[in-house]
Amino acid sequence: MGLFAKLETVGRARAAITAAGIDPFSTTFERLESPTRGVMNGRPVLLAGTNNYLGLTFDAGCIAAGCRALEEAGTGTTGSRMANGSYAGHRRLEEELADFYGMRSAIVFSTGFLANLGMIAALAAPGDVTLIDADCHASIYDGCRLSGADIIRFRHNDAADLAKRLRRLGSRVADTLVIVEGIYSMLGDRAPLVEITAATRAAGALLMVDEAHALGVLGEGGRGRAEEAGVLDQVDFIVGTFSKSLGNIGGYCVSPRPELEWVRYASRPYIYTASPSPGTIAATRAALQQLIARPELRRRLWENAARTYAGLRDMGFALGPEPGPVVGVFLPDAETTLGMWHALLREGVYVNLVLPPAAPGGGSLLRISLSAAHTAAEIDLLLAAFAVLRERTDLPAAFGGRKGTGTDAGAGGMAP
Ligand code: PMP
Repeated sequence: MGLFAKLETVGRARAAITAAGIDPFSTTFERLESPTRGVMNGRPVLLAGTNNYLGLTFDAGCIAAGCRALEEAGTGTTGSRMANGSYAGHRRLEEELADFYGMRSAIVFSTGFLANLGMIAALAAPGDVTLIDADCHASIYDGCRLSGADIIRFRHNDAADLAKRLRRLGSRVADTLVIVEGIYSMLGDRAPLVEITAATRAAGALLMVDEAHALGVLGEGGRGRAEEAGVLDQVDFIVGTFSKSLGNIGGYCVSPRPELEWVRYASRPYIYTASPSPGTIAATRAALQQLIARPELRRRLWENAARTYAGLRDMGFALGPEPGPVVGVFLPDAETTLGMWHALLREGVYVNLVLPPAAPGGGSLLRISLSAAHTAAEIDLLLAAFAVLRERTDLPAAFGGRKGTGTDAGAGGMAP
């Protein structure tokens, strides 16, 4: 029973959550009808928790490209590129990503999670330092652990704290990899990349930015937070995913550095797993072209994000610090959050349930993600469902309860 003891703890926590007759872990979409509409438990549901930022999952061109590749090259590669060889599509996608960023080269990984594991563990080793924003994604933490390097966290989005920790490292900065995200996944807030790149470069460390949630979302050309902040030429490695704005699955790293090519030979999460299937690669390439050719998708996404954020803030909800494609709604405890999540489903709206320890600060959240594909009427529906909840739920004032302090309650960022 020794090995199972820790699973028992997980099982007990799950049982406590599902005791009220709500099982958030077995949600299944019986049908997907569009990027924003599905059917769950026989009822239509508005999808507002998908990361489908540009709404490209049902794009006819992407689907056709995927189908063609399935027919021409088969369903899967059945092995890794190192052992079985690359398909032409893998190479083309890497060239297209490098061109898109104006960088020297790119590596495609099988997922974004593996891109972080594969890059961090290839770059850093025992004796080195990974210096990461405290709110970084689990794949960044796991990549740092896999590398065996020392892991130091700096305060979320605090470039002064980063600079202080870099100074303290002394000569070890030469062996230090700083890692941040462009947009953070739970609250949708952006990294202060001008200050972070300045601090990192002044110290002489290397910088990696995970643009998973910012690709296609920020920057004139949709390249992400580094483009928006004007520091694309000062970032050593950009990692990202195909699973959000590109509506597919896979990950990548682009870099101006020639050393990136060596990573292929040193990265176990690249070498020892099957490469993405032909259909995946072809549909992702088509989605990247859509991202480039249709900046109006980005504009629509931001209109939806701004409306949602303003609407919820005006209802008094406690939100993340700024409008973004992800809007985090802070709630006082897991029980309330679970109840509200379920009530939203009853209203026909699906958002993400985030319980401790997944949310920053160990709190509980309802996480909304917007899409360019949401219509104005769908945003109305989303806001109306939250308005119903706010009326029905007796929230403490700081979380926008009926006896709340109005619009200011949500403006202060992290909830208590
Ligand atoms: N990085 C960040 C910041 C993420 O939020 C995620 C996924 N949520 C990933 C990496 C992993 O991406 P993928 O889904 O492609 O594994």
